[in-house]
Amino acid sequence: MRKIIHIDMDCFFAAVEVRDNPELKGKPVAVGGSPEERGVISAANYEARKFGVRSALSSAMALRKCPELILIFPNMQKYIEVSQEVQAIFHKFTGIVEPLSLDEAYLDVTESTFFQGSASLLAAEIRKQIFETTGLTASAGIAPNKFLAKVASDWKKPNGQYVVTPDMIDSFVINLPIEKISGVGKVTAEKMHKLSIHTCGDLQKLSLEDLRNHFGTFGYSLHEICRGIDHRKVITYRERKSLSIERTFNTDLPTTETCL
Ligand SMILES: [Mg+2]
Repeated sequence: MRKIIHIDMDCFFAAVEVRDNPELKGKPVAVGGSPEERGVISAANYEARKFGVRSALSSAMALRKCPELILIFPNMQKYIEVSQEVQAIFHKFTGIVEPLSLDEAYLDVTESTFFQGSASLLAAEIRKQIFETTGLTASAGIAPNKFLAKVASDWKKPNGQYVVTPDMIDSFVINLPIEKISGVGKVTAEKMHKLSIHTCGDLQKLSLEDLRNHFGTFGYSLHEICRGIDHRKVITYRERKSLSIERTFNTDLPTTETCL
């Protein structure tokens, strides 16, 4: 049985900005692009989330939902530096670290001997060191695989952690919404809802054959993931297969020619 920790910084970009400007504390703060130039929100603190301000929301809409929102332009260099400090803490405890973004990573601590092998105590120590080093809070999920660890890190957010032990897996997944499964986007979720599938428990009622008929090759992993089974390894190095860059234009480009 493996021991995987998923660490997720709380409202990362926004938290860095509040840390560096204490006057912002307790106020709704978001990091994002300019509302006049179709900017979008990349992070919002909990005060802002109360108003419905979420990442990927347009900055203009965010300001409509929360007129007193303090909107800060992203300072990526600073976030990268903080992220490197956090990564250095992970590497004190294990070499098997898979960063998912600047503020999230999987750690495989199966072979770790820290804290007599207790992954929970180790996660608590990592979060403590993150706070001491950066002044920021992180949440953690501890579980026998990546899927469960990632879902669990959301459970006690912010500044908390949640453990899914092997004997808890069945009860943990049974009522879990299918939207929590990575790879289930809006389209697949709608398709499942039409089939009256809302939770992993509902998915479990379908045979592997049914799942393959409805969802193609994804059916194989769905059959396992809905039972809390996930054999994906924590990958420390990945060859880049593609690169994408987004650019939002200030005004609409009405023709294919202008887009090209
Ligand atoms: Mg985060």
